[in-house]
Amino acid sequence: MSILDHDNVRDSLSEAWRRSEPGTPNAHEEGGFIVRTGTGDLFVIGWPKGAQREILVPPHPNGTRGNMPIIATFHTHPNIGPGFQQEPSLTDIRAVRDDPDLSHADYEGEFVISQNLVYLIRRSGQVDVVGVTAAVLGIL
Ligand SMILES: [Zn+2]
Repeated sequence: MSILDHDNVRDSLSEAWRRSEPGTPNAHEEGGFIVRTGTGDLFVIGWPKGAQREILVPPHPNGTRGNMPIIATFHTHPNIGPGFQQEPSLTDIRAVRDDPDLSHADYEGEFVISQNLVYLIRRSGQVDVVGVTAAVLGIL
């Protein structure tokens, strides 16, 4: 079962996307850690609200948050229209690839949610398209 097959994770990502007020003057990035509990459940621990084009990742020593392993991270790209990049930026890619606290084998990468597509930045720095946002997040 992949991470986004977990209904509660998908709902948390949809909620973060809505909260980032895409396409409005208040558009700002939202993000979070996806962690695994001792019983194998996954859930999202949100990051503090970001700015229009950036968001700060809270500390996550040894790939954990609240003593739970981080298995993925995500952030939104809520700015729409010409001049705004939808896909992960070089800064985004480096933040994943070059973070020693996100180098553990359980970490699948960082999802970047844009208006049209959801991307995944892998530990290697490779970027894949996960799918169409509305379908991936179940907000058709
Ligand atoms: Zn970004």
